Amino acid sequence: MKFRQCIQTIAPYQPGLRSQGSIKLSSNENPLGPSPRAMDAVRETVPMIHTYPDGANRELTAAISDRLGVGSDQIIIGNGSDELFLQIAGILLEGDSTAVSARQTFSEYRFSVAVFGGTMREVNLSPQGRFDLQAILHACDDSTRLVFICNPNNPTGTYLTHRELLDFLTVMNDRFPDALVVVDEAYQDYVTAPDFPDSVALLASCPNMIITRTFSKIYGLAGLRVGYAVSHPEVIAQLKRVKQPFNVNLLAQSAARAALSDEDFHHRSREINQLSKTRLTGLCDSLGFSYFQTQANFLCITLAEDLGIESVELPPTALGEYRLPDGVNNLSSFAFRHFNEYGVSIRALQSFGLPSAVRITLGMDEQMQGVYQGLERLAELARKGS
Ligand SMILES: *Cc1c(COP(=O)(O)O)cnc(C)c1O
Repeated sequence: MKFRQCIQTIAPYQPGLRSQGSIKLSSNENPLGPSPRAMDAVRETVPMIHTYPDGANRELTAAISDRLGVGSDQIIIGNGSDELFLQIAGILLEGDSTAVSARQTFSEYRFSVAVFGGTMREVNLSPQGRFDLQAILHACDDSTRLVFICNPNNPTGTYLTHRELLDFLTVMNDRFPDALVVVDEAYQDYVTAPDFPDSVALLASCPNMIITRTFSKIYGLAGLRVGYAVSHPEVIAQLKRVKQPFNVNLLAQSAARAALSDEDFHHRSREINQLSKTRLTGLCDSLGFSYFQTQANFLCITLAEDLGIESVELPPTALGEYRLPDGVNNLSSFAFRHFNEYGVSIRALQSFGLPSAVRITLGMDEQMQGVYQGLERLAELARKGS
């Protein structure tokens, strides 16, 4: 057998870990569980699971198109947004194509590019943990077919403004009209910043954009796998060519439609997130930990500025002086074990290119107790170390 060379470098996805019995705050799942309306819809749909789902996802597509005020021919539903990234790569990339994104971002972009034999060019985030649009433009050339922007960015939680995104899309369209810009808005529902992009409105003036969103986060349906993309009818029509006939299952379709109408759940999820963010950032401030400004349902805390980090200049922190215990040369995995002792699983960000940082999903107060205690203990250790 002769396997394709381009897939030999792909490492299997490392999911957020959970050690047995601990509270999982490593995958940005909804701390409230699934939308209650979605659970009802699943129960009602169970007797029909001997039938194929609607391959065209008509009802869910109609509900989303209603909500967003775009045509149903501008929407495609995927088996999670992960599947959509693969489809997007599948309609644009060939052996000599390049794609551009950030190094410290969601790994599914580089995965999708690798599967289709493209070359991924990755640039560092800015010191504030934001997408560096100038650096991305620099990395583009005539071979570039795709740019991935994660807004807000996983794992830093930072965002690009409406103006920044519009200017970037305009320049991209002038200089590299063959490239499609993917704007991944998985965490868009949590955003409170007033200058966050109204990306759907931008579609009218930007022919080169596709937006992806998901039911995995604020709607609490990560286990069912539903996401969608919004773009221009020509782009969506191309994606439909590479779509598997029944990619979104029957339960997922009905649950997603019900979740979309569950405004109370959406509201409560946002509220709890906001409370948790205020409490955790307040604690970090009082203990002297630095973190990136987040618009998402997680906080990225930078534990050290000088430990194996070349790529992003991290803000100073009380733990700058922290001496690692013998045998530990990776602060973020040390932190994973540390928080584990307090009963919570957090995300070490080594694989995201941030070995000195951790990402913690914002949860309800009772789920966060171990985080608070773990941080207090770390601060104590740091004081002793210095
Ligand atoms: C969680 C997440 C998604 C959602 O992926 P699904 O396949 O829809 O579950 C997409 N993008 C980013 C950056 C994420 O963190």
